[in-house]
Amino acid sequence: MSRKILRRITQAAGLVLALLIPALDLLRYDISARTLYLSGQLWAFAPEGKYLSGAGGNPVQFLFKGVLPWALVFISLPVLGAVIGRFSCGWFCPVGAIFEIADFFRRKLTGFKRCWTQWRHGDGRACRKELFSGLLTVLSIVISLLIAGAFFSGLLISPSEIWRQISSLEFSPFFIIVNSAVMAMIVGTYIARRAFCSYVCLFGITMTIPFVVSPLSLRIRFDTTRASLCTNCGRCDRACIMDIKPRAQNKKINPRCINCGECITACEQEQGRKRGLLYYGFGAGKKNPKKSRKATASQLGADRLSGGSIK
Ligand code: SF4
Ligand code: SF4
Repeated sequence: MSRKILRRITQAAGLVLALLIPALDLLRYDISARTLYLSGQLWAFAPEGKYLSGAGGNPVQFLFKGVLPWALVFISLPVLGAVIGRFSCGWFCPVGAIFEIADFFRRKLTGFKRCWTQWRHGDGRACRKELFSGLLTVLSIVISLLIAGAFFSGLLISPSEIWRQISSLEFSPFFIIVNSAVMAMIVGTYIARRAFCSYVCLFGITMTIPFVVSPLSLRIRFDTTRASLCTNCGRCDRACIMDIKPRAQNKKINPRCINCGECITACEQEQGRKRGLLYYGFGAGKKNPKKSRKATASQLGADRLSGGSIK
């Protein structure tokens, strides 16, 4: 299975889990019932200021069963950052997955905009297909936003209540406000995506510092021993979803790098499978020079056989 497909699968799994967080009561504050759910445990604020708890009505139990699992997730983040860098941002983050779905839609809309201009100038017959697919894309964007808005509204409204309103098509003003706010947040976050991932996302920030300071963290490396084989095609730069220069990572880790590996795949498309110049590596050490010399020699041989030239 290719790296790209594998990443799409892990991203889809992360997105599905995130959408189900409210429905599974992993994290939810139901505003109307004033009940807090953490890791499946209920904490209800009664009007008299007393509380009810699903963890045997015991605050200590609630702390252990409800709060502790989330605390463990947060505590593990710096450790993860020090070992695998921001790998989880690139491979599991649901927000990143939403960004990449939005990128897909944006690319589709580029053709649509061009066709729309042609259409207005009376020359749209040639691109009817693009116009149709553009309209489908706009429809898909609206539907995806509504679905994401409905799921994430579950953080504040009970999922059963959301389902009741959707199935009866009777929407309360509160649901409309929460849903619209969630959709606006998704759009805003996408617009400021790089700043969001670098400076706003608590998960990302918690992993970034250990990632950068750890001498052993997983990072993207450029094989300097085979640097002469680089065709300077720029594929790796264009593939980078965080808009950074993957080849420069050897000199200094870029804290924005989410170890998604898209640059590695892009380089393999240029150089051939398993012959890319970019690769994952732990720490800042150089690739085994012996192995690299072998790879270079075999590549030179392959290029000679195919009549290609080394730049
Ligand atoms: S440098 Fe490579 S691994 Fe890092 S974010 Fe860019 S494409 Fe992903
Ligand atoms: S994709 Fe590979 S060959 Fe192309 S510029 Fe990047 S490192 Fe060089």
